[in-house]
Amino acid sequence: MKVAMLGSGSRGNATILVGEETRILVDAGFSARQMARRLEVLGIEPESLDAIVVTHDHGDHTRGIGVWARRYGTPVYLTEPTRAVCAGLFRGREEVRSYQAGRPFRIGEFRVDPFLTVHDAADPVAVTVYREGCGTRVGIATDLGRPTAGIRHSLAGCDFLILEANHDERMLRSGPYPVSVQARIASSHGHLSNHAAADFARELLHPRLAGILLAHLSAECNRPELALDVVGGVLRKKGYQGYLAAAGQDEPTELLVIEELRERYGPGQLSLL
Ligand SMILES: [Zn+2]
Ligand SMILES: [Zn+2]
Repeated sequence: MKVAMLGSGSRGNATILVGEETRILVDAGFSARQMARRLEVLGIEPESLDAIVVTHDHGDHTRGIGVWARRYGTPVYLTEPTRAVCAGLFRGREEVRSYQAGRPFRIGEFRVDPFLTVHDAADPVAVTVYREGCGTRVGIATDLGRPTAGIRHSLAGCDFLILEANHDERMLRSGPYPVSVQARIASSHGHLSNHAAADFARELLHPRLAGILLAHLSAECNRPELALDVVGGVLRKKGYQGYLAAAGQDEPTELLVIEELRERYGPGQLSLL
C-alpha cells in the first residue's frame, strides 16, 4: 500500500492511497487541475482514481471535488451534513455517495473506517483505510480540535499515521491573526499545536508503527523544522525510530510504500514494546 499527500495546509489538503487495484483520494482541497498535475508528478493517472472520500466541508478539503467529479467521473463519498453544506459544488451530474461516521464501507480493496472528530465543521470525520491483502492500515487525522478517547481508539494500531501539527503556540500568539482567529485555531474545535501533536503521537506509538507524516502545518504560525523538532524529540525519547516527515503545501510528498517502511524501521521499533 502506498501513500502520499498531494499537499497539506490551510490552502489545500489531499492524500492519495494506492493499493494493487484501488486508488482513492482522501479530501480534494486543491483545484482539479492542480491535483491532476500533482498526481502526474507521482506517476498516477488522474483517470485511474476510484473514489474521493471527503472528511468535512471546509474549502481546504473540498475545493476540487465538484470539478474533478465532472471531469473524471470519480465518485465522491461524503456524509449527509457535509453534502448539504457542499451542495453548491455539485451540478447534479456527479456520482455522490453518502457514508456515516462509525459505519465502515468498502471501496475496491480498501475498507474505510470513518470516525467523528472534534472540529468546527458540519460533520467532521477522520478515517483509517485498511487494505486486506497486506493487512496495512493508514490513519489520516488532519483537523482535530483535540484528541478524544474515541479518536485515540480509532487510530490505535495503524501502520502509518498522517497527523496534524498545525501551529507553534508562540508563533500563533505573535503571528498575524486577530485574537478571535487565534482563539479559534487554538480551541478544542480548532487545530492541534506541535506540542499537542507530539503528545498525541506518543500515545499512538506501537511497535508496528512504521511512519508518521505531519500535516496541515500553518504557513504563518509554524515551520516544518520546528514541528519535526518538537514531535521528533518527544518520540525519540520514547524509542521511536520510524519514518518522520512533514508534508508541505506546494508540492506532493514522495509516494511512500508502507510495507517497505515497516521492513526498514520495524526491527528497531522493538524497544517500544
Ligand atoms: Zn477543517
Ligand atoms: Zn483543514
